[in-house]
Amino acid sequence: MAEEIKSSVENEEIIQEGSNNFIAAAIAEDIAAGGQYEGMTVHTRFPPEPNGCLHIGHVKALCIDFGMAEKFGGMCNLRMDDTNPTKEKEEFIDAIKTDIHWLGYDWEDRFYYASDYFEPTYNFAVELIKKGLAYVCELTADEVKENRGDLNTPATSPYRDRPIEESLDLFERMKNGEFEDGAMTLRAKIDLASPNWNMRDPVIYRIKHETHHQTGDKWCIYPMYDFAHPIEDAMEGITHSLCSLEFENHRPLYNWVIENISAPAKPRQIEFARLGIDYTVLSKRKLRRLIDDGIVSGWDDPRMPTLAALRRRGYTPASIRNFCERIGVAKNTNTVQWSFLEFCLREDLNNNAIRAMAVLDPVKLVITNYPEGQTETFEIENNPLNEAEGKRNITFSRELYIEADDFMEEPPKKYFRLFPGNYVRLKGTYIVKCTGCKKDENGNIVEVYAEYDPSTRGGNPPEGLKVKGTIHWVNAADCVEAEVRIFDRLFTVPNPDAADVDFMEHINPKSLVVKKNCKLEPCLACAKPGDGFQFLRLGYFCVDNVDSSPEHLVFNRSVELKDSYNFKN
Ligand code: ATP
Ligand code: MG
Repeated sequence: MAEEIKSSVENEEIIQEGSNNFIAAAIAEDIAAGGQYEGMTVHTRFPPEPNGCLHIGHVKALCIDFGMAEKFGGMCNLRMDDTNPTKEKEEFIDAIKTDIHWLGYDWEDRFYYASDYFEPTYNFAVELIKKGLAYVCELTADEVKENRGDLNTPATSPYRDRPIEESLDLFERMKNGEFEDGAMTLRAKIDLASPNWNMRDPVIYRIKHETHHQTGDKWCIYPMYDFAHPIEDAMEGITHSLCSLEFENHRPLYNWVIENISAPAKPRQIEFARLGIDYTVLSKRKLRRLIDDGIVSGWDDPRMPTLAALRRRGYTPASIRNFCERIGVAKNTNTVQWSFLEFCLREDLNNNAIRAMAVLDPVKLVITNYPEGQTETFEIENNPLNEAEGKRNITFSRELYIEADDFMEEPPKKYFRLFPGNYVRLKGTYIVKCTGCKKDENGNIVEVYAEYDPSTRGGNPPEGLKVKGTIHWVNAADCVEAEVRIFDRLFTVPNPDAADVDFMEHINPKSLVVKKNCKLEPCLACAKPGDGFQFLRLGYFCVDNVDSSPEHLVFNRSVELKDSYNFKN
């Protein structure tokens, strides 16, 4: 099945399994070639911008960053990319750390902020000015755009040839807060005619009178990402700066910065394809809109593609790392099916989840020939795939709950569950024969009736009787109540991001169904937040880590037992 899903990944031919990918090959080559990498430990970094929670796309990036370090016995730093003072929020920093640790990766004592390097970054900018490689430009952002030229015409700036001393003076005064936001910028003096726009004298510093969450009001000029990032990498001794493909056109600038400052190290940038997943969006800006517009309850709403949400939904670190390992690393954009992520989870939970019985749409089943007040105990395996998980006792009695749709008064063909006259196995106990039901004045079924056959204890039918249906149940007297939340795709189309309409037009109105009146096996009463189970015949569920309490149990459906999107039989 995994193979089937994987074949839908675009650019299959360049996808390589696991950590044996083109990045690993490039790093191995660098090490073998000696030169600047002679005797060096591979050193990578993961540089999230703390303006939102990590999503599954970030997970791919961090699995590559930490994974490559792991593969080569090296190190990976965690660095908050906080060069832009306006957007960052401190609350996300802790969330990001929690997420990465939860996945099983560790940056040890190497946690940094891009803002740790504001001082050296400023000094490197001064160095460039002194070398005649940067100048203060007084064009406004709009004017820079107007003067950027086109393929055949070079860009222009009347400030390009301003004397070094003048730029040094103005840059210092920019730093000292003498000018308004946007009044001037520092630009690298590279090549106004370059076919690569990023090289047409890019802005490397801008004025922003804004308080920064780390540096407070110390700075009112901030470096642009393209200038700051190579410097941060060099300051940390990064050997390989792995990033997503949109930075490919920025690599010449990255290298230019490294070559023209007195950089303490010479990192190499290598790009890989961004991960896309169907039926969702992977952009913090769009995810934030889902939150702001009240479509979801927050970053950790179990329908979101964030790590916090996946964890809350019942995903395990193993399932997510496995997913990243299997989708591999490609050079071209790749879109993977959400179903494949679910496949990886199901595989993990199938082996490891404790089985239990739960009834989500309960109707009472009365075993009319079972003595009132009598109970009996059955032993049931906690996980038939893993004996070590042991067994537990379940209580059987005259009044049980079953799923409402396990009974039909007038069944269609091939319906093997309860209908008058039919025999059904009650999981782990007896075979019962349905005898009818009771309805209320509106015609709703309020009770179903059956008779049990005492000779079928353990579920073996008497000679000559074929019993095709087995249904799950819980004991009415000792079951526990719970709320169960059933999730579906957040969007109704595979690519909600397709440009023609706003992605918000494709919201699935039925992505959340809340069932308030569910009846669970008593063993689930003491389940802890995050604990996962397989509810027989229903799927995998876990205790919600936000809203559940011993007084009000809340379970989330992690994933169905079978894939209903791509593998419909
Ligand atoms: P978003 O658009 O979601 O805000 P971003 O790239 O701005 O994404 P950052 O916090 O800057 O988010 O990203 C941290 C790292 O994660 C970067 O190296 C970036 O390349 C990588 N990354 C982000 N999204 C993806 C994705 N969908 N697939 C692979 N890598 C990604
Ligand atoms: Mg970003």
